[in-house]
Amino acid sequence: MAKNTPDENRIKPCPACDADIPKPQLPSAIWRDRLAKLQQGFPSPWEENERDQHFENTFKDAVALLDDMKHPRYGDLALLSYLGDEDPHVPNYDSSYHTKMTEELTHPAGVIHELVNFFDGMPIWNHPQTMANVIPPANTASIIGATLGGIFSPNIIEGDYSWHVAKTEIESAAMVADMIGWDQNEAGGLFTFGGTGCYLYGTKYALTRCLGKESRYTGIREDVKVLVSAQGHYAKQNCTDWSGLGMNHFINIQTDNNNCMDVEELKKVMEECYQQGHKIAMIVCTMGTTDAFAIDPIRQIREAIDEFQAKHRITGWPMLYADAVIGWAWLAFSGYNFKTNFLQFSPAALEILQTNYEQIKDMHFADAFGCDFHKTGWAPYNCSLFMVKNRVEFQQLMERPVPSYLHPNTDYNPGHYTLETSRTGSYSLAAWATLRFFGREGFRVMLGRIIEVQMYLRQRLTEERSLVCVNPDDYGFVTLFRVYPESVDAEEAYQKELNDPAYREQLKIFNQFQTRVANKLFDMLRNPSSAPTGWKNPPYTSYTAGFRAPLYAPAR
Ligand SMILES: *Cc1c(COP(=O)(O)O)cnc(C)c1O
Repeated sequence: MAKNTPDENRIKPCPACDADIPKPQLPSAIWRDRLAKLQQGFPSPWEENERDQHFENTFKDAVALLDDMKHPRYGDLALLSYLGDEDPHVPNYDSSYHTKMTEELTHPAGVIHELVNFFDGMPIWNHPQTMANVIPPANTASIIGATLGGIFSPNIIEGDYSWHVAKTEIESAAMVADMIGWDQNEAGGLFTFGGTGCYLYGTKYALTRCLGKESRYTGIREDVKVLVSAQGHYAKQNCTDWSGLGMNHFINIQTDNNNCMDVEELKKVMEECYQQGHKIAMIVCTMGTTDAFAIDPIRQIREAIDEFQAKHRITGWPMLYADAVIGWAWLAFSGYNFKTNFLQFSPAALEILQTNYEQIKDMHFADAFGCDFHKTGWAPYNCSLFMVKNRVEFQQLMERPVPSYLHPNTDYNPGHYTLETSRTGSYSLAAWATLRFFGREGFRVMLGRIIEVQMYLRQRLTEERSLVCVNPDDYGFVTLFRVYPESVDAEEAYQKELNDPAYREQLKIFNQFQTRVANKLFDMLRNPSSAPTGWKNPPYTSYTAGFRAPLYAPAR
């Protein structure tokens, strides 16, 4: 083989302009022509004014198309709380199952138009008429954070693939550790797919602590138990199921009158498990149930665990997991002087905020917890942080043998122990943006405002004879109420239905009435022509049929 002359080996200077770029004569081919079109559909890897601007404008245009589907702030349409035109039809998904793949490329502009059209009819979560479930709108910084992640695809599987962006995960976890009062040298966190993902991480961590690292090879072969309050989120089913433990192996612990876990009952069940030879992998404290915002007494539960462990000379289990996906944000009140009340919350709201905080702050007794930024963090879906008190222990237990072809260049490699392989940096960028934007004060104001509004709404409900609030004592966001015909005193009727078996039939009738009112409201919302005059565009509320059973209901 002829050797290259030194001259040919020399690296040529980079082209200074388009004309300098060598254009080898390649045989023409249709694929090259198609490729050129495809490449126009990607952002440029270089700083190139024209292409960059095209990309930036495309983005801006898409957002503008979405914004065009909103309604004017003033006038009749201001109350319309969803994007696009009034359309009485609920979506028909049938034909979507038969969508066919196209043969040719489609122009990206057309694709974007079609994408935007999917948003027609979407509820606008920060519209004042939208009061459904727990769905906060995302703040701008977090939307941009998540979107920037989409542009450059940082993968927080490891530092190599996310570089400084990995810091948004480390720093978010550090800030949350600081909020809860854990030692930042020891605590750590990982972003994952929702509060359910956090719960699943908690379950796996607990199972491994309980059954040993070996169980990650042998599998779950022992019927260990998960103890959680009867009011706990149904993620207890997902997680015992998907972890392989099985849904038969969580035990519901009764709740007291305040919907909180009954600690005496818990102790009894712990002892029963022990006597029957069943280990308890995990006890779940719900730090804020979805409806009642009940907060389990985590300090007492930690004491119960300590006693149990001392009595039976046990270490390593049960792990204490806090399902704090809603409640975690109250940690921002740490350091707030409730006496001087700098932010000037009303006395009644302040009392609620302080009571909530006093309960939530005991969360530092947990071994691990989950927080949803897409709930009380005002960030886009998905954005959830799984936190552990002892990150070294977690990493050692959850580490896997690493394929030898991977040779990391940085010392941040969570991919060695996460459930996921690829993990988007969009999660942590969005959360970090929120933490930075809000600071403690931002969270305090957002939570305080919700409580002020909640109190106002409940006050209005007491003023309406035909409406009755059924959770007036709950300290959370959610207000539940029943509706009665104008001729009925709602409060009186409700009390009778709740307490007196003689009103069983009336209860059934008015339960049906609730369903019909809820259905009518929804119909009026989506189909304004069905609304009586003066009743157009009602609020978008949620309907729940399972809040409270009458006192005479047969035990379930
Ligand atoms: C919402 C919620 C979950 C589930 O969280 P996702 O983010 O929806 O997966 C779990 N527990 C509680 C208490 C919740 O409110």
